[in-house]
Amino acid sequence: MSDKNEKREFQADVSQVLDIVTNSLYTDKEIFVRELVSNASDALEKLRHLQLTEKEVFDDNLSLEIHITTNEEDKTFTIADYGIGMTREELHENLGTIAHSGSKQFVKALEEQAKKESSLIGQFGVGFYSAFMVADDVTVHTHSWQEDGEHLVWKSDGRTGYEIEESEGERRGTKIVVKLKEEFEEYAKADRIKHIIESYSAFVSFPILLNGERVNTVEAIWRKQKSEISDEEYNEFYKFTSKAFDDPRYRMHFSSDTPLELNALIFVPTENTELFGFGQMEAGVSLYCKNVLIDDKPDGLIPEWARFLRGVIDSSDIPLNISRESMQDSALVKKLNRVVIRKFLKFLDKEAKSDPEKYGEFYEKFSRFLKEGVVTDFEHREDLAKLLRFESSMTEKGESVGFEDYLSRAKDDQDKIYYLITPDRKTAEAGPYLEAFKARGLEVIYFYDAVDDYLIQNLRQFKDKDLVSIDRSDVELDDSVEAEGEALEESAIETLSSFMQEHFGDRVKKVAAGKRLIDSPVAVLTPDQGMSAQMRQMMKAMNPDEDAPPVEVEMEINPRHPLIKQLFDTQGENPELAQLVSDQLLDGALLTAGLLEDRKDLITRNISLMEAALRKS
Ligand code: ADP
Ligand code: MG
Repeated sequence: MSDKNEKREFQADVSQVLDIVTNSLYTDKEIFVRELVSNASDALEKLRHLQLTEKEVFDDNLSLEIHITTNEEDKTFTIADYGIGMTREELHENLGTIAHSGSKQFVKALEEQAKKESSLIGQFGVGFYSAFMVADDVTVHTHSWQEDGEHLVWKSDGRTGYEIEESEGERRGTKIVVKLKEEFEEYAKADRIKHIIESYSAFVSFPILLNGERVNTVEAIWRKQKSEISDEEYNEFYKFTSKAFDDPRYRMHFSSDTPLELNALIFVPTENTELFGFGQMEAGVSLYCKNVLIDDKPDGLIPEWARFLRGVIDSSDIPLNISRESMQDSALVKKLNRVVIRKFLKFLDKEAKSDPEKYGEFYEKFSRFLKEGVVTDFEHREDLAKLLRFESSMTEKGESVGFEDYLSRAKDDQDKIYYLITPDRKTAEAGPYLEAFKARGLEVIYFYDAVDDYLIQNLRQFKDKDLVSIDRSDVELDDSVEAEGEALEESAIETLSSFMQEHFGDRVKKVAAGKRLIDSPVAVLTPDQGMSAQMRQMMKAMNPDEDAPPVEVEMEINPRHPLIKQLFDTQGENPELAQLVSDQLLDGALLTAGLLEDRKDLITRNISLMEAALRKS
């Protein structure tokens, strides 16, 4: 063997993938055709783009086509493209390691949940390696588009390793010969392959020739009329361009002439793979100019939060030879971003209204992206906020509404939107905060998600109405509700408040009577400028080793509550017992607010109180 020829073993995770692939995890063997066609098409797209930006391209006169040949006698399936080809280094990197997206996700899936649930694995394409499902061995002949590239042949049986040898006279691009296993010789039959190509690859934007005969009509589906495209075609297109295995959940297809000439076909996947713990999704909307791919992951084409979108934006206003760098800050790209995202958010809003149930399913899986958008994308903030959904004090459990619903039933003079961050509905309804709002017929939104506090801090308003947490001390309430029962007198309130304040010291910033309590004796409130309980928890979670900032609360007492009235008497007669009760009230209120750091005093104090109560009776 000359030193130009070499033999290498597969990387560990390649072997792992190959092992599973060849041990027939996929029942659907024919997907290997789709994977190889997709790679050929990718290679041609890349070449078409290079021809626009590079001066010298090897074998520049070759036409951009995909040639498939079947040979029943030899039991081979061969696919050739005149695309970009591969250098020696690229062969090692692309076919000897797991460097590409589909298989990378696959390996991750193996390591995680998918281990238990093999059906999940079917969600991922394993790309090139899928050929080994049906092959005894696979040979890849290739020559890179670069003038100084080598003629190379890569060969493997898909078990332990591969070899690379030099050879003579390869054309630019890649030719892959799949030597079929005995039991899969059907894939050496032209009819079988024709059928597969027709169902999978109808919209590949390059001519596919099967044994010299043209099998597809080249067309950019996104430039066609909606009425000319069937649901199946849309779905297959989605799977093809996004390398996805699910069907799309939503699709939006539109064209416009102003302010930009553009055609866009955008999909929302069924699955949010970020929920499986596979890390961040990669952006998946590619940019075309008049059917020519400019970039499959252009920076800034869609905002970061919209990375779950898949599809194509085609605009003839984009210069064909635009470079990656200049695209990033191109005003044109920003404009495209704005037009498409605004349209998409409108589309979602319409969907949410016309089919709330379907939207609810989408929301359950994808709401994090919308929330991320509210926080990070100032330009689309209001449109995104419109799409948020939540339960409230006026909905049934499980029923959700949006800010617009809230405003539509708010009182005419209501200039605020009230909310409470709470672990669940039960806690909200059992706590002291809701009473006053219920009594006044004011709707209160419940936010359950850990990120919601942060979300609201950023949103602050919807349609010019401030979002106000009902546990804040600065919430103003009107006098419309006549509270029942006799209240303590002003001077008694004063005395009791100072008594408690003095006893609490730094633990409570202020003790005062207020209007919000009806059935509860006391509540702790977050002072103006104070940090919410959720914010504290988030800070603690982020810096577990540091001391959390001290809890800052005010206490509201209910001067009509029998316990408070009793407490006023007790503070004169038995100040020690009154202090014990005050402490217990404070800890109880902190507990309800999610702010109690240490519960052990609550228990010991409870025992002392029971003792005192029994002594009296
Ligand atoms: P993916 O297509 O998701 O990147 P594949 O396993 O299908 O993963 O392919 C691995 C890599 O091998 C590709 O990213 C590409 O760089 C290279 N490759 C595969 N087929 C071809 C081809 N026909 N021409 C050029 N490069 C190819
Ligand atoms: Mg591929």
